Amino acid sequence: MLRLWRRHTPKCPHRGKGRDYTNCRCPIWTDGELHGERYRSTLKTRDWQRAIRKIATLESPDAPRWKPVKEAIEAFKKHYSYLEASTQRKYKNILEHLGDFTKEAGVEALTEFTVDHMDAYRAGRELSKTTATKELQLLRQFFGFCFDRKWVEENVAKRVKAPTNVKPKPVEPYTTQEIIKIIAACDQFGRTSYERLRARAMVLLMRYTALAISDVATLARDRIRDGEILVFRQKTGNLVRLPLPPDLEMVLDALPPPRGMESNEATHYFWNPATMTRRCVVGVAERTLAAVFKKSGVVHAHAHRFRHTLATEILSRGGSDQDAADVLGNSPAIIRKHYAKWNVQRQDRIKSLMQTVHSGTFLAQKEKAAVTV
Ligand SMILES: [Zn+2]
Repeated sequence: MLRLWRRHTPKCPHRGKGRDYTNCRCPIWTDGELHGERYRSTLKTRDWQRAIRKIATLESPDAPRWKPVKEAIEAFKKHYSYLEASTQRKYKNILEHLGDFTKEAGVEALTEFTVDHMDAYRAGRELSKTTATKELQLLRQFFGFCFDRKWVEENVAKRVKAPTNVKPKPVEPYTTQEIIKIIAACDQFGRTSYERLRARAMVLLMRYTALAISDVATLARDRIRDGEILVFRQKTGNLVRLPLPPDLEMVLDALPPPRGMESNEATHYFWNPATMTRRCVVGVAERTLAAVFKKSGVVHAHAHRFRHTLATEILSRGGSDQDAADVLGNSPAIIRKHYAKWNVQRQDRIKSLMQTVHSGTFLAQKEKAAVTV
């Protein structure tokens, strides 16, 4: 059963009489037990009759459940714990901001979170357009997740408009010169050959296979067999086999086993799971690469640019959007969005198609005649 009460505003003359005094126009709240769980929420009205009708809908079996924001965030994080560590960190950061915001705003459960809260939250974030758009995408995902579980009445994040005119960052593949500089830097950074050989292998793996840095750092030895590497693409859930170029194979063969292991017991190329967590080995790999990039002097060098490089190479050698998508583990739509101008197959097709259109149509013939006359 739910009961109604008024949450007196600071200005209400009946404030001192407590919440059971209801003969004023203060906002109406409800609490009690709903669908077997504790429920407490504003009814977003000051009209008593309306509040009664709202309670009736709440008590219907399809109404949203009382779910503390904190618990919902934990459930969401747990649900997506299979994603890459870097993605999970991004989710965690944003959701932490959201958690702090709701705490300050006095929002305990998701049912209390309104579009106004959403606006206030976003106004307080002061993000760039691109980051704000990405954050909104995650918030929509989060509230969608909560909606599916009947913790919210609607996906409030969907009611907020995304910033317009957000251009995707221009894709900048590495030039050959830049790649040479990065590979050379692998031999000049750090103190020992152990670090240098590992850095070189990591760079070449990313360069030839577009693996994410976390996948490189945790690459198991049994993934490479008969000159091929078996890559699992998390985003698409696809397995793809890619050939290994001989120079990469040589570098991998020369790799010292991870510290604390003999070569015959190494299960991974860069990782000793007995002494290091996954998070830790990925962190080490990230720092190694950062040091290499810095040493190389290549401006805006970043692990992700290896993926851009491979994608543009596939497309400029006649590969299709689907080919690039399969290799990179993206969707063809993403490939089209970011790499359209490198797609020679598409350009050639458009060119010959347009030539046919221009030369072959009846109208074109007539126009030609008109021009010559
Ligand atoms: Zn009042």
